[in-house]
Amino acid sequence: MPADCLFCKIIAGEIPGNKAAETDKILAFHDIAPQAPVHVLVIHKQHTPGVADTTDNAIFGDLLGGVRDTAKQLGLSDYRVVLNNGAEAGQSVFHMHAHILGGRPLKWPPG
Ligand code: AMP
Repeated sequence: MPADCLFCKIIAGEIPGNKAAETDKILAFHDIAPQAPVHVLVIHKQHTPGVADTTDNAIFGDLLGGVRDTAKQLGLSDYRVVLNNGAEAGQSVFHMHAHILGGRPLKWPPG
């Protein structure tokens, strides 16, 4: 784990996270600055910086399976899943994460 990775620190319990769901592979926690009534981040416990850096496709399967299961646990039927890749796309934490956004109607296109 990179020493300076915020989300690795949340996985390790060094920084508190408001947990929504957890398995041996996945952690889901509520975003600290929610953009919707439900805004949860789903991360893989294996560090990878982003979509473009991920070489093991199983990580994508684990991550999206975690999204599906977390959304179900939260009682969401309609929601948006966002993975920002790169700073220009809005990525600010370089530990790959899927945003689950729901609980209100969502507009398209995103900004
Ligand atoms: P992104 O901009 O796609 O990299 O998403 C990073 C997300 O992490 C943002 O929505 C932040 O609000 C969120 N975030 C940053 N620090 C924390 C934290 N300590 N706990 C929960 N969410 C965080």
